[in-house]
Amino acid sequence: MTPSNVDPQELAKFSDLAHRWWDADSEFKPLHMINPLRLEWIDRLATLAGKRVLDVGCGGGLLAEAMSRRAVEVLGIDLASKPLKVAMLHAMEAGADRVSYREVAAEALAAEAPASFDVVTCMEMLEHVPQPAAVVQACADLVKPGGWVFFSTINRNAQAFLYAIVGAEHLLRLLPKGTHEYDRFIRPSELAQWCRAAGLALQETRGLEYNPLTQRYRLSGNTRVNYLVACQRAA
Ligand code: SAH
Repeated sequence: MTPSNVDPQELAKFSDLAHRWWDADSEFKPLHMINPLRLEWIDRLATLAGKRVLDVGCGGGLLAEAMSRRAVEVLGIDLASKPLKVAMLHAMEAGADRVSYREVAAEALAAEAPASFDVVTCMEMLEHVPQPAAVVQACADLVKPGGWVFFSTINRNAQAFLYAIVGAEHLLRLLPKGTHEYDRFIRPSELAQWCRAAGLALQETRGLEYNPLTQRYRLSGNTRVNYLVACQRAA
């Protein structure tokens, strides 16, 4: 367990907005827009049917609940209590009985239940954590040998600054100001290095591109701003 690997201000940002998590026109609109894309991509690579899945930094549960419609069991974990409560309530109202939630750090769960999940997802979370490499290691420890681990985050370069902060927070107002800090953004090469050090082999990297004209996201080969990475633990 690394109790210091959390930024309380980051958790507060998400807790303050938690009640709007499932409103597709709220601050969480981008997550609603990308959810079907990432769900299909994860399912295509890891085949969720029959699998035990962990979603690290699950927030209000958009991806965890969607995956639970296909997987046998999904556990969502986060350290912000309000988003977790919203996730639990939504699952109850939606009759999603294969998803459950727990307030626990990935590092602590890895010590408690190593190698227990077929699939681990950790989306849009690493860029909010002081030591993201430790979370990558925890995800690697939590997945079974041969299992899949998925990450998504934001690249660190001038274009990412322009699109993810100036564009999304200031011009288009897709996200509240202060959602992201440039210094916490992660280059694909850095993420790849943390994955390899944790014993994960990179299988696929995809860009997540936003077109402000059509107001749509799509998966592409362009990883300059938002991107996703799929890895597998050695069997
Ligand atoms: N993964 C979800 C939510 C992304 S928002 C999705 O893509 O739909 C980022 C989430 O990371 C928030 O819910 C926030 O509370 C969580 N988070 C930030 N730091 C964390 C930490 N150290 N441990 C666990 N969760 C954290």
